[in-house]
Amino acid sequence: MIPLAVPDVTGNEAAYLQECINSSYVSSVGPFVDRFESMVTEASGAAGAVAVSAGTTGLHLALHSLGVRPGDLVALPSLTFIASANAIAHCGAQPWLFDVDPDSWTVDVEQLAAVFRRDLQAAPNRPVHRPTQRPLAAIMPVHTLGHPADMDPIVALGREFGIPVIADAAAALGARYKQRPTGATGAAATVFSFNGNKTVTAGGGGAIVSADKDLLQRARHLSTTARVGVEYDHDEVGFNYRMTNLQAAVGCAQMERLDRFIQRKRHCQAVYREAARAIDGVDTFPEGPWAESACWFSGVVVQRGRPSKVADLRAALRADGIDARPFWKPMHLQRPYASVLVETQSVTNELWTRIVTLPCSTSITDSELNHVVAAIRRRLDQ
Ligand SMILES: *Cc1c(COP(=O)(O)O)cnc(C)c1O
Repeated sequence: MIPLAVPDVTGNEAAYLQECINSSYVSSVGPFVDRFESMVTEASGAAGAVAVSAGTTGLHLALHSLGVRPGDLVALPSLTFIASANAIAHCGAQPWLFDVDPDSWTVDVEQLAAVFRRDLQAAPNRPVHRPTQRPLAAIMPVHTLGHPADMDPIVALGREFGIPVIADAAAALGARYKQRPTGATGAAATVFSFNGNKTVTAGGGGAIVSADKDLLQRARHLSTTARVGVEYDHDEVGFNYRMTNLQAAVGCAQMERLDRFIQRKRHCQAVYREAARAIDGVDTFPEGPWAESACWFSGVVVQRGRPSKVADLRAALRADGIDARPFWKPMHLQRPYASVLVETQSVTNELWTRIVTLPCSTSITDSELNHVVAAIRRRLDQ
């Protein structure tokens, strides 16, 4: 089976891990953690980075550090991985779900603005959602599949309503928004994931980046049990969310090859895009005019009105030894979030079932890509 996406750990990963063992720095303090943070800072265009244990814990810590508390609302697109919503729930807050724009699959900025103007009332600290009287504490755009959301109008909305923007950029390290790297888009915080299936992995891990050094300082403090000094003295309820030196060792070896990985991911998407243009019945993954996507996953979208084709195509490709998969089921259709606030989902509802993700490892060969394309053509031309 040609896999969907597997990590390429053929660089310095083994050597760096051996260094950790030799030095006995295997835990949450060590030179690779510092180096990893520098590399992520540099690649993201931010002022600094805090390396954490996962993308999910990074999101939770960023939300908490920016004041999201029990009972609050956080606005985000319904079409995302469940970790975005879970991080909000871990704060005791509630997701407020918006639709996506069909040309980028990122949050629908016009709906966001229109609904905010309709439903929010000004209050001393944060705007209040009139129908529920819950405060809106943050906006969380998601850089779907490594494709940046349209950040300028989102950051402007955040400023207008006096709330921070926390970007879920889990798979978007290496992407660009209007030529700017994803850590330099004006969000209060941007969070990356280094999970095993992401373009750059640390085995597992995450990072919060920001232009605000005080915020990073606070997040770092909270990530290490809010300990003060060397004795067992803690000044608030903290978390145990730091990345270990072992994870960072793998992460550093991966970061050394970031540009090549992104190039290869973009190449996969270009191949599938070209194929989808030529094959009747499928459309391409989108790329908005403001975006240079990191193309975490690639694939095709089965055209509307051919619902039975989706499952058929996936099954047929799998029978051909191609790991074709469905994509995220939206949050408003998930049991834990079945009763949260949800706006009209006209794009999301008709889109998500039609997405077919296809093999796109950074190590995939051109002949494997051609094999996938030929199989799609064969199945759809029947
Ligand atoms: C992968 C992913 C996450 C979660 O990251 P983990 O490191 O697996 O916790 C969050 N949001 C999105 C959009 C993701 O793709």
